[in-house]
Amino acid sequence: MYTCFKMSITSNLEVSFETDFYNVINNELVDTPSKRRTICSSTKQPLKFEVPVATKEDVDRAVDYAARAYTSWSKLSWDKRAEYLSKFADAIEANKDGFVKLLSLEAGKPPQAAAFEMAQVIGVARQMPLLRIKEEKPIDDTERTAIVRYVPLGVGVGIIPWNFPLLLGTGKLLPALLAGNTFIWKPSPFTPHGALKLAEIGSKIFPPGVFQALSGDDSLGPWLTAHPGVAKVSFTGSVETGKRIMTSCAGTLKRVTLELGGNDAAIICDDVDISSVVSSVNQITLLSFVHSGQICMVIKRIYVHEKIYDQFLAEMAKQVKTFKMGGYNDPEAFFGPVQNEMQYNKVKSLYAKINTEGWKAAVGGEIKDSEGFFLPATIIDNPPEDSEVVQDEPFGPIVPVLKWSDEEDVIRRANNTKLGLGASVWSSDVPRAQRMAEQLEAGSIWVNTHFELAPNVPFGGHKESGLGMEWGELGLKGWCNPQAYWVKHIQPKPDN
Ligand code: NAD
Repeated sequence: MYTCFKMSITSNLEVSFETDFYNVINNELVDTPSKRRTICSSTKQPLKFEVPVATKEDVDRAVDYAARAYTSWSKLSWDKRAEYLSKFADAIEANKDGFVKLLSLEAGKPPQAAAFEMAQVIGVARQMPLLRIKEEKPIDDTERTAIVRYVPLGVGVGIIPWNFPLLLGTGKLLPALLAGNTFIWKPSPFTPHGALKLAEIGSKIFPPGVFQALSGDDSLGPWLTAHPGVAKVSFTGSVETGKRIMTSCAGTLKRVTLELGGNDAAIICDDVDISSVVSSVNQITLLSFVHSGQICMVIKRIYVHEKIYDQFLAEMAKQVKTFKMGGYNDPEAFFGPVQNEMQYNKVKSLYAKINTEGWKAAVGGEIKDSEGFFLPATIIDNPPEDSEVVQDEPFGPIVPVLKWSDEEDVIRRANNTKLGLGASVWSSDVPRAQRMAEQLEAGSIWVNTHFELAPNVPFGGHKESGLGMEWGELGLKGWCNPQAYWVKHIQPKPDN
């Protein structure tokens, strides 16, 4: 019985962003007894509109509705589900401007940076529906056929951090739905607004129970990961939380994908084309400071060959001085504040160590009083390898630049971390760079680029940076159970 699943898309797909925000359960906007406000990181003031605080009963209802919807949604063809996803992409695009404003306010992104995230969201929403999983046939002869096919899991949950709240959420939602699962989106308590609006739009497109969103406090995540009705949790966030989530999911042997922290190294060789070194430096500098360093997969340690170190550092410092930092309403800025007070205090304590540890700041380092959680873009000039700014992921606008001279040694230093999200090598001798890059222990390795992603290419972490991969065919498979499917052929009876 799929009659309720005929496409009944509301003609007006635009939603209002000037309203209260609600959880979305079974395509209804649901209020909660208690509400909260989040803080704008540009002003430290509470945002105007309240968000719900989901109760345990809300979780039970959402999981129940998701399980019911799964029965029918999972039986639709991939093409039919892709059609729903494409309508959803249209609706996101129709509301793009509202999302840009909302992201600026809630995620601490100047409009240009928020527009950058929304462009990525729309790109992913357009391309994800095109993905498919190829069935494998390891045996196919006259006697029997064995197929490896991929079947959906059931109710999926996405637990999302605050740094790229809409891109990281849609990057889980869309493959989960395409593969035939239903999905509950749990945004970070720091950035719930955009997710709730996306789910409100989804309620005009998807059948009830297929896409739901619950905003809540710190109890919400553990309720979801422990819930026996949830089949899979896909989490993006810190290593510590990832370990807690895996422990909780073990209780019911849920499938788990973990996208965790990174401390990506970029190794810059001495043969980086000197004529183009300035443009390489600009690119590397941007890839270190984009979103004020609050991205898991940007460059966090820069190893520069000693022969070009001084020139490289001077160019980087020159570029950093041109960065325009600003708040949610500054159209010229691309670099915003740190997203929340907790993270601000954590990164601020690293700045304090510039003096106490005797690190040398090539640029930045001094924190000025400001209305928001602003920290200056800072480069630390060749700190000791074992210093905190090198060993730990700062997740803020502070980056160490380090000297190297021996190829083997720099690869060892780049790999000498429990994390393994991404790493890159930069050289005009591409075969040399490839040979070096292939020795790096990370889920994504790049040559002459970094933080390059595409919806049809998987990404994920090695070591403590994660488990499993997202996006691409591998990511889709992560939203499925593989199934071995044997068919014994009936042999024609021999003629008498
Ligand atoms: P976090 O781990 O504090 O929180 C992430 C999410 O988990 C939030 O929604 C939070 O409410 C929820 N959560 C917290 N405790 C939970 C629990 N016990 N059970 C269930 N859910 C729980 O991370 P954050 O501070 O929001 O994000 C920053 C971290 O995320 C950084 O370490 C960064 O590197 C990492 N990150 C990784 C990727 C990636 O793709 N690998 C992408 C972005 C951010």
